[in-house]
Amino acid sequence: MNKSFFIILSILIFSGCSSDSVNQASEAKERFTWSLVTTWPKNYPGLGMAPERFANLVDEMSEGRLKIKVFGAGELVPAMGVFDAVSNGSAEMGHGGAYYWKGKIPAAQFFAGVPFGLTADEINAWVNRGGGQELWQDLYRPFNLLPLPGGNTGTQMFGWFNKEIKSLEDIRGLKMRIPGIGGEVFQRAGGVPVNIPGGELYTALQTGTIDATEWVGPYNDLAFGFHQIADYYYYPGWHEPGSMLEFMINLDAWNKLPETLKVIVKTAAQAVNQDLLDEYTAMNNKALQELVSKYGVNLLPLPEEVLKEFKDISETVLDELAAEDTEFKKVYEHFKEFKNNVTNYHNISEDAFVKIRSIE
Ligand code: CA
Repeated sequence: MNKSFFIILSILIFSGCSSDSVNQASEAKERFTWSLVTTWPKNYPGLGMAPERFANLVDEMSEGRLKIKVFGAGELVPAMGVFDAVSNGSAEMGHGGAYYWKGKIPAAQFFAGVPFGLTADEINAWVNRGGGQELWQDLYRPFNLLPLPGGNTGTQMFGWFNKEIKSLEDIRGLKMRIPGIGGEVFQRAGGVPVNIPGGELYTALQTGTIDATEWVGPYNDLAFGFHQIADYYYYPGWHEPGSMLEFMINLDAWNKLPETLKVIVKTAAQAVNQDLLDEYTAMNNKALQELVSKYGVNLLPLPEEVLKEFKDISETVLDELAAEDTEFKKVYEHFKEFKNNVTNYHNISEDAFVKIRSIE
């Protein structure tokens, strides 16, 4: 029996320590190393940096007890393999957008964004404070996953065109890169939606494979250089009014974490969710000014007639999807009720204020 044994023993006796709290103390010191796979190229500006910042925050907050190594698309698994990799435990975490998994879970799309849906503030409120998180967890639990909000782009742009859009006639036959439900709406309005990965968009637009493309907003679009090959930049991004990104965590890995590390992971995710939105808000207008003043981009609003048609079709498409899938219907009804309520208030608060702020 050495001296330190007696010291520890006396501490345990005098502090009334039970064996449970001894276990907790050793658990608290346990170290974890996780892999995080993303749907973005490594270090892609904006959205691609969110998981990197998250990993750094967790490392600092946990004093190195949870190390997370971030892998870009294609490094461990392809971009669209993220969901399966985290679900089966090949990686403990993932970062992407919930609408990418619509083939497995149609209702997941509400947790990224749907046409004429929620803005960034609104989707945060719905998920974090309005009951959305519980619905999202119910959708992902059968896949052994815990989802968490992972950033937001804010309201996107409708995109880049080489032709002016004056009426619905101009949409007909137009080949545009526009994925998801927005693409379905575009098709029913007479357009031809195509889905091309971000990295191939510039060449596709340059060579005329497509007539138009949406991407994100000025900050990310400027970096891709679309202004060099398209004349018109249309707004607003009715199809992505506030696209939320996501973290997903393998539930077996999650359940092995001590409570402190769980709190750290959740808190770091919340911080990154807000931080990415702040980055877009700060950077978008700067990039927009550069596009307009320096590069002479024609910035134009979509005609009301066209927006009205897109809105009507969006409602029809969402209703049809709800009729096909009970989960989709359940989430849609919850989402719709929240949207109606928040719209009612925002009409007389944020929206009313933003309008009068521009009065001259
Ligand atoms: Ca987009």
